[in-house]
Amino acid sequence: MTANLLDFDLDGLAAFCDQLGEKRFRATQLFRWIHQRGESNFDQMTDLAKSLREKLKVHAHVAGLSVLSRHDSADGTIKWLFNVGDGNAVEAVFIPEDDRGTLCISSQAGCAVGCRFCSTGHQGFSRNLSTGEIVAQLWFAEHFLRRHLNTPDRVISNVVMMGMGEPLQNYSALVPALKTMLDDHGYGLSRRRVTVSTSGVVPMMQRLSQDCPVALAVSLHAPNDPLRDNLVPLNRKYPIAELLDACNQYLEFAPRDFITFEYCMLDGVNDTPEHAQQLVKLVRQHATGKGVWCKFNLIPFNPFPASGLLRSPAPQVQAFAKILLDAGIVTTVRKTRGDDIDAACGQLAGDVRDRTRVNERIAQQRTIVLKPVTDLTANNKEA
Ligand code: SF4
Repeated sequence: MTANLLDFDLDGLAAFCDQLGEKRFRATQLFRWIHQRGESNFDQMTDLAKSLREKLKVHAHVAGLSVLSRHDSADGTIKWLFNVGDGNAVEAVFIPEDDRGTLCISSQAGCAVGCRFCSTGHQGFSRNLSTGEIVAQLWFAEHFLRRHLNTPDRVISNVVMMGMGEPLQNYSALVPALKTMLDDHGYGLSRRRVTVSTSGVVPMMQRLSQDCPVALAVSLHAPNDPLRDNLVPLNRKYPIAELLDACNQYLEFAPRDFITFEYCMLDGVNDTPEHAQQLVKLVRQHATGKGVWCKFNLIPFNPFPASGLLRSPAPQVQAFAKILLDAGIVTTVRKTRGDDIDAACGQLAGDVRDRTRVNERIAQQRTIVLKPVTDLTANNKEA
């Protein structure tokens, strides 16, 4: 079996090239061809020695994911459903804004955490994605978008690991994927613009702070343990106090000086003034003494029948936000994007739950072959 080069970060590719008797600078050239130019055909990599190209044809390949479907929202959001084999599919969503292009990608087919308000959680867990399958979502989307928008410049400026799956439960595949996103010879994204979202896998948060500290978002969703035990079952293993201590430790290494807490607003469940006051108390108890250490992102819930939950009415969300804001806590209410294509948060499993539909699409699918695009020149690293 030949190696899929999307599975390697630059160090991994250098080790692979070393096995082929090639120097590290060849790995760098190869890495740039693949990630910056979107090239998968070794014959097109014209500045590589012919002998290396011949070796690569024997020992390696560059395999992306095949697209089962694409949905374009009226607001510019694009959602892709990718086939990952054995009747499994994962989704990635591109969200364009005036000053950025964000890609939300998946780390697992399904998810084992089983949050009550999340349609992916209700689907159950199928398997971890490989590094190559995580990176392939970005690889495909970036080069598709450049062709689609007819631009040689980078389109995706931010990546959020907020699609299907708990990224920190797929740690060994996640870290090389993050390193590829950050690498100047890969996508050159700033650490501040790559966000891992976790439901609170405390030991892995500590490891991530050492191995690849990118921005961190934590799915909090409740201000006390009994409620969080119910909404985010992982809380029974890593309760809130332990989670917030881990957040504070992460901050010592994080590229941003705050953690984002995601809070899905569920009508009558976690959205009362008392819940907001409990959150204020929690934030104060865990303050570092260095000013703002967290921000809240209140997320309108996207109801789906199996959840038995409802979206909080807008005035309730505003009243909740006001209590946090009055206490000096930076709070935003997430705009819903891509509602018309079920691309909003928590809806990513919408197409995937029904395996029959996935299998029908697999039967109908066409593989999309990427063409090379102009070399990447823009560097979007921000201060
Ligand atoms: S919210 Fe995240 S961690 Fe929870 S079930 Fe959904 S994908 Fe898994």
